[in-house]
Amino acid sequence: MIGNNSTSTSCECGRGLSWNSSEAPENLRELTCDCGRKYELERNGSAWAPRHEALTPEARQPLAGFSRELKLREDCERYYFSHAISGHRVPVHILFSRSAEEAEVKSGDRKPFRIAPVRSPLEARRRWIEWFDSRPRGDGGPAPGADRSRIAPNV
Ligand SMILES: [Zn+2]
Repeated sequence: MIGNNSTSTSCECGRGLSWNSSEAPENLRELTCDCGRKYELERNGSAWAPRHEALTPEARQPLAGFSRELKLREDCERYYFSHAISGHRVPVHILFSRSAEEAEVKSGDRKPFRIAPVRSPLEARRRWIEWFDSRPRGDGGPAPGADRSRIAPNV
């Protein structure tokens, strides 16, 4: 191991990001660039690497579909990232309120997935991905068995 605990990477905007890895007791770290993008870094042995692409803040975001309670929060933060769904990368939107410790994550016309309590938009993304990718089918289609009942109805 090298004795120097500071390490760095750079943001999509070109700014350098650096942090002191000794500050992170856990295997995940969250970093926010001056431009607002957020990064999640994962420890891989003694090295740290971004785990997903940046979480990008968005000033305007279609809010249709998100819950009214969350939309009305004054400290609402909005972000997006992209996630592979059925082989395509589609935008996924996050609405996050720090005071409410609540987030809603939404892709396409799907209903928002509510996460609470949640401490950061990066944690919301992490939990949404875990939930989304662990569903029986990752493409948002009907669950297995939905067709079967139509083909062979119970008599
Ligand atoms: Zn940046």
